[in-house]
Amino acid sequence: MNKEIIAVYPGSFDPITNGHLDIIKRASRLFSKVIVLVAINENKSERFTPILRKEFIDSAIKENNLTNVTCDYYNGLTVKYCEIHNASYIIRGLRVVSDFEYEWAYATTNEYIDNNIEFVFLMAKKENTFISSSSIIELAKNHIDVSKLTPKLVSEKLKEKYK
Ligand code: ADP
Repeated sequence: MNKEIIAVYPGSFDPITNGHLDIIKRASRLFSKVIVLVAINENKSERFTPILRKEFIDSAIKENNLTNVTCDYYNGLTVKYCEIHNASYIIRGLRVVSDFEYEWAYATTNEYIDNNIEFVFLMAKKENTFISSSSIIELAKNHIDVSKLTPKLVSEKLKEKYK
């Protein structure tokens, strides 16, 4: 009997972008099940509530027919979430060299807590390297169309928010 291989893709996703979505799509082809995990971080200022961030992700999952992907949110340690949900992999995306230092610290800290969970890093596609949640917000605030950079519901909400 084949064992289900479950991976968690954690992040702020505030909001989800096409860069995140590309990582989700690629991960969905590598693992039997992918859980996109919206991290609730009380120390970080939020642009959208976790409920709304999940709504954006759920809508993108549905729109892209990613049947082995689900979304959840959690305010504890990601590795603890993985242990509870039998996930043995954590996925992260890497854009430019500056991401590396942060991701290295993130991975090694998590390995200190539980080194049975393996980190898998997927390189951003070159057309997505400049996309971040904060750059999307900056563009939207300045009334630049972001519909090519985010899932549909996100660009619609941003247009409405900053009109
Ligand atoms: P966090 O606050 O945890 O870094 P983010 O939502 O900013 O949350 O990012 C979640 C993960 O997705 C990180 O590993 C980040 O490097 C990756 N990521 C963000 N934007 C992109 C992109 N455009 N292409 C590929 N990976 C990305």
